[in-house]
Amino acid sequence: MEIGRGIHLIKCPWSTYFVSSCILLGESIILVDVGTQDSPKEAIYPYIRGIGRDPSEISHIILTHAHFDHCGGASIIKKDTGCKVLVHKFGRPYLEDAGLIDRELHERFPSIFPARKARFESISVDGTFEDGDILDIEGRRIRILHTPGHSACSSCIIDEEIGIYISGDSIQGRGDRRPLLFHSAETYIRALRRLLNEPIKAIVTGHPFPPFKEAILRGEKARKHIEESLKGIEELQSRVVMALKNSERPLSIGQIRKIVGMSQPVTIGCILEDLERKGIAEKTRAEEAYLWSIKKRS
Ligand SMILES: [Zn+2]
Repeated sequence: MEIGRGIHLIKCPWSTYFVSSCILLGESIILVDVGTQDSPKEAIYPYIRGIGRDPSEISHIILTHAHFDHCGGASIIKKDTGCKVLVHKFGRPYLEDAGLIDRELHERFPSIFPARKARFESISVDGTFEDGDILDIEGRRIRILHTPGHSACSSCIIDEEIGIYISGDSIQGRGDRRPLLFHSAETYIRALRRLLNEPIKAIVTGHPFPPFKEAILRGEKARKHIEESLKGIEELQSRVVMALKNSERPLSIGQIRKIVGMSQPVTIGCILEDLERKGIAEKTRAEEAYLWSIKKRS
């Protein structure tokens, strides 16, 4: 569906819901996020043909981040079209070595992430960007806002003229086990606060995040989505701190999760790492897991 002048949104079917891919039309075609390995043939190519264009016109893929459900289609599209792949500079190593993300997560959180095989094919990156960069492609002015937290490289890809923010998984909402963070709650909170000061007309979300569960949020709804996201992570953060403070013995992530209620264990892990960096919490290794406690003052 066309969501702004020359910008189309495709909801690529995935799992029980969808992952968003956007098409920016000019002389050539720019894709922002490309779904999983199945998405080019199942959803993206048919859509492009359906609007009277051809997949061979794809010149660039810009990725909001380097997770398999957003970048999985990139290696196939690149092989088919010879297009360029762009990502935030922190994403490059994760695209070029598809197994890196899971190896790192296994090392950080051994009790939650078993070692496993890569879930996409490694992709060679043609260019990187960083916060504040303006990409001038095909006459479109695309601004980059680095919005880490869900991942280190997460970025909003912004069509400045229309005020559309393609956010990937940068703004996770609240409820239904969200937010899901793999990087850091602190940087996520900072990014959300920055977003509240942006001139946003519409947000494209990577998945149907709660509370609105829609792929495109306009005006007041877009702002509300950011505010709800901020509330969600701040509440969870304070509940994790309380759980540690109220416990007489060190706790595993699984135990903390039971105390704070339904949420993603990896998000709790990210909150604990932030607390460790700030000198508030500490971890000790116990068999296959780490145990966390409030740092004793010496
Ligand atoms: Zn993601």
